[in-house]
Amino acid sequence: MKYTSEAGDLDFWDPYPRLNDFKKIGINLSGGTDSALVMFMTCRELEKRNSDATIVPITGVDKTRPTNIWNAEEIVLLFKEIFPTVKFANHEVNHYKKDHEKDKVNKHKEHEDRLWSENKIEVLLHGRSANPPEDIAKANNLLFKREERRDKHGHKRVPYHENHNKPFYCPLEYLDKRFVAEQYKKFNLLDNLFPITASCVEYADKTDNFTKPCKECWWCREKKWAFGMYDGGVV
Ligand SMILES: [Zn+2]
Repeated sequence: MKYTSEAGDLDFWDPYPRLNDFKKIGINLSGGTDSALVMFMTCRELEKRNSDATIVPITGVDKTRPTNIWNAEEIVLLFKEIFPTVKFANHEVNHYKKDHEKDKVNKHKEHEDRLWSENKIEVLLHGRSANPPEDIAKANNLLFKREERRDKHGHKRVPYHENHNKPFYCPLEYLDKRFVAEQYKKFNLLDNLFPITASCVEYADKTDNFTKPCKECWWCREKKWAFGMYDGGVV
């Protein structure tokens, strides 16, 4: 299916016919807006194709910031309601304790590798989107502390690859969050899905024990830039 936006268009699924072969579709679901949109678009695709494939939601939970699992679980419940014919497997949850500040990527990879080796997934979908273009990032205070691997031209990743026999699809690789926000508007997801997503990555001290967004971290600022509001609709 094709999705359009002022920030760029996406031809989701169709360019990669092999996606139809997989029966166990793992989707990394962080609790944020982008991975939730990837799951939404996947549900639409499976529904349209009357597919009997199963979605396997995958969530990593940092023990010092444990609340994203509530967001991820609510998101899955919502999609089960909207797409009653789409099949879901058990939510694969990995609670981990970071050994150092940059350990998150390793912990997620360990979990994914376990799922691959246990044959629980046949393809992995990831919701990573792109950073805003440099001039827009500068104007919106989104250059400092950005994750550089999300720069559109900062790496050589392709949206779909099958390295090491592990098919991987990252459909938002070259689309920034304005694309995501536009789809939320188009598909009326601002009232049901948006309020149960969470993007803030700060800890208990800066979020009033995880009850409000910090409004300062990069992810808070990116969400405010694209959606005009922070987690929970806070402005
Ligand atoms: Zn924040």
